[in-house]
Amino acid sequence: MNRVLVVNSGSSSLKYAVVDADSGDTIADGIVERIGEEDGGVPDHAAALQAAFDELDDDMTGLVAVGHRVVHGGPDLYEPTLVDDAVVARIDELSPLAPLHNPPALLGIEVARRALPDLPHIAVFDTAFFHDLPPAAATYAIDRDLAAKWGIRRYGFHGTSHQYVSEQAAEFLGAPLDSLRQIVLHLGNGASASVIVGGRPVETSMGLTPMEGLVMGTRSGDLDPGIYAYLWRTAKMSVDDIESMLNRRSGMLGLGGHIDFRVVHRQIASGDAAAQLAYDVYIHRLRKYIGAYLAVLGTADVITFTAGVGENDAAVRRDALSGMTALGVELDEQLNADPRREARRISTDDSATTVLVIPTDEELAIARACVSLLTNRS
Ligand code: ADP
Repeated sequence: MNRVLVVNSGSSSLKYAVVDADSGDTIADGIVERIGEEDGGVPDHAAALQAAFDELDDDMTGLVAVGHRVVHGGPDLYEPTLVDDAVVARIDELSPLAPLHNPPALLGIEVARRALPDLPHIAVFDTAFFHDLPPAAATYAIDRDLAAKWGIRRYGFHGTSHQYVSEQAAEFLGAPLDSLRQIVLHLGNGASASVIVGGRPVETSMGLTPMEGLVMGTRSGDLDPGIYAYLWRTAKMSVDDIESMLNRRSGMLGLGGHIDFRVVHRQIASGDAAAQLAYDVYIHRLRKYIGAYLAVLGTADVITFTAGVGENDAAVRRDALSGMTALGVELDEQLNADPRREARRISTDDSATTVLVIPTDEELAIARACVSLLTNRS
């Protein structure tokens, strides 16, 4: 039995799961929220981890490793990596690339290493899968010396999910992974799209940071970079304020006031024009990406929806792909409306491109990455 404790430590929440990497079963999972909040929260990440341990109790027995989700691995950390002090220092050095994500992940790693010193701690990077993006997709068209000096490239994120879901799609279709031309749409609070050919990443929507690309729960996605200078110079906003606004108060929240699509649909039904516009902007951006990615591919064998919105919101899936019959993509309305929470096809038999819904499981993917690192070491 290969049980792994998977820790995903954010600035104000700590998600945890104990996963059996062999069977794929989640033994237990949970989230400790409101870290650092005065009212009813827990004071810090150490207390959050202790709360997780208290909750897990007996499920903690028999662990073989602790897997940590780390958002940014920068240019050189892309394999699952056994954490030691040097790796901690390296992740810390990468904090300027991911100021909102890497510091809280490091806090999680440090408290977990102290609490469970006898277990191997393994960092799994959200950028890893996209390390091999082809140069044409990874390169920003800016001064190349400046880009090289500061590590500016498109790194991509949600890599664990894109890889896992593309492998599951191949399994579901009973086709070899290396034969498939895929588009994966990971639509959660964070959202990203990718093109995967033969199991290798070819294009993805997130860039240097997880801000580029699709409209998200609280992030803007693509912007004219001129907006940064304009807000700084004219609205006198600081760079930190602009960054925080674009990360935390934009996207669906900034446009319509809500990040949860169940609420967005209710608001639209009650005639809320702001919610309608937010939804329309979200769908418009998503369709632009799907169209672009179909052009990158020429033909797509499969388009897969995953994550909270992608797995559950039939209206988003319908509106994202409507009117694309000429592009080879046709949804079956009944299959699309089926709320089952398992891998399933939602396209018609005639659709040249198969459309799937596949639940993502980043915790399982991280647990398996940990076990495979340990197995290869021994
Ligand atoms: P995270 O990026 O935090 O991991 P998830 O992938 O869990 O996010 O997605 C969370 C989002 O999924 C919610 O904010 C909500 O918009 C959406 N969601 C969850 N369940 C449903 C549902 N039944 N219908 C529509 N949207 C849903």
